[in-house]
Amino acid sequence: MNFDVLIIGSGPGGYVAAIRAAQLGMNTALIEKDELGGVCLNWGCIPTKSLLKSAQVLDYARHADAYGIKIAEAVPDFQAIIARSREVANKMSKGVHYLLQKNNITVFHGQGKLMDSQQVEITDADGNKRTYSASHIILATGAHSRQLPTMPQDGKRIIGYRQALTLEHLPKSMLVVGSGAIGSELAWFYNSMGTQITLVEFMPTIVPLEDEDIAKQLGRSFKKAGMTILTNSSVESVDSSADVNGGNLLKVSVKNKKGELETHEAEIVLSAVGIEPNITGIGLEELGIVTENGHIKVDEYYRTNVVGVYAIGDIVAGQSLAHAASAEAICCIEKIAGLTTTTVDYGCVPACTYTSPEVGSVGLSEAKASEAGYELKVGKFPFTASGKASAAGANDGFVKLIFNAKDDTLLGAHLIGDNVTEMLAELVLAKKEKISARTLMKTIHPHPTMNEAVMEAAADAYGEAIHLLNNHS
Ligand SMILES: Cc1cc2nc3c(=O)[nH]c(=O)nc-3n(C[C@H](O)[C@H](O)[C@H](O)COP(=O)(O)OP(=O)(O)OC[C@H]3O[C@@H](n4cnc5c(N)ncnc54)[C@H](O)[C@@H]3O)c2cc1C
Repeated sequence: MNFDVLIIGSGPGGYVAAIRAAQLGMNTALIEKDELGGVCLNWGCIPTKSLLKSAQVLDYARHADAYGIKIAEAVPDFQAIIARSREVANKMSKGVHYLLQKNNITVFHGQGKLMDSQQVEITDADGNKRTYSASHIILATGAHSRQLPTMPQDGKRIIGYRQALTLEHLPKSMLVVGSGAIGSELAWFYNSMGTQITLVEFMPTIVPLEDEDIAKQLGRSFKKAGMTILTNSSVESVDSSADVNGGNLLKVSVKNKKGELETHEAEIVLSAVGIEPNITGIGLEELGIVTENGHIKVDEYYRTNVVGVYAIGDIVAGQSLAHAASAEAICCIEKIAGLTTTTVDYGCVPACTYTSPEVGSVGLSEAKASEAGYELKVGKFPFTASGKASAAGANDGFVKLIFNAKDDTLLGAHLIGDNVTEMLAELVLAKKEKISARTLMKTIHPHPTMNEAVMEAAADAYGEAIHLLNNHS
């Protein structure tokens, strides 16, 4: 065998698996056909957060008056903002390269394909092929933007997230299809830059996986910021035949909530209707590796049906998030190494949307918790009642906690507000360790912090919040 572990794909699934394997003394190699770090570092989590930071700085500068500061005029330099985002992504990718080197991991640049359960063929950029063997092969090939036949992406006028991160000029108008985290974040960014945004969502609320109260609050913020929101609506077709050089806009046929067709115009259509796992061309069919609903089927330790072949990250079912991919990677490797490892608890995977206000959640929404038959205690604390939020001029939003009335444990936590994604880990820990509402409310939270809202929301569920004018429970 050339290696103990050979991994295809260097995203937060693949590179974390490689480093953990090397830490455990395994001779490890990683194959990557594009940039090290995968979608997350190069085309996902990191460059989007860089763009959103620029939007936030712009917003602060434009509202500096509210903080007693005079700024003549704040104008975004779109190309510089995009360039900064690419620089941040490149720096992170180089950081992964350094980490891999430091851990003595062999990196192959090329396209990997399974040949059998212990062999991978690598085709480099010049078409040269080499085959390497390993005792364990991990597939971590990630996913790409999902294509819909009603709006085939041409990469120029009908685009996916990759093109949205590198547009050469700021479009005057953009119709964003899909309001999950990716669609909402990019809609928010472009709206902040001055693009006229129409956001189309098939479900009754935007960010449809979030608790309804959160979704409604974010919808209000989006409308206040000037976006047009079309919920219960679907894009039926996009007419891109009009000559763009003649200044013509795309004509988008949208079926509205009444079932009627209406035409919207936009310079760009951004398709953000989800992702599709990269499962073709990697040798699955040849080896008879079982897939289910487009994902590779695995057990709780990420073993496929073929002994010695594993799959982690966006190519397997579960939340398609970077931290989920990394947790799966560690579990998979530790099991291979024979360690006693904990399996990933998908009920404790946090989800964040980095708009302004931000959204963060873990566990069940109120509707889902009721559907599941739990008797609930719900506590809420608005940031209007928070001293830190008032000082920051960030009173929009709230913390909503859902407890199981039987044993006071947390079923779900839902946050919307300034920087709330940084507050979420405490609640993930509470949920994971079944920490009771009483412990949360008796834990001293520093004052003034936004985090006090967690303690107060827990107390509110039991009618004991100190800083609420009207306890609603
Ligand atoms: C715009 C956007 C924003 C996002 N924001 C967030 C966020 O804020 N937080 C969060 O948690 N998640 C976010 N995500 C999701 C996150 O990026 C993914 O869940 C994560 O990258 C999945 O990791 P992975 O390791 O499974 O795959 P990927 O990161 O997709 O990496 C897979 C790698 O495999 C390589 N590869 C594929 N096939 C082959 C092959 N045959 N041979 C060699 N190499 C191959 C690819 O080139 C790629 O580099 C975002 C995604 C997008 C698109």
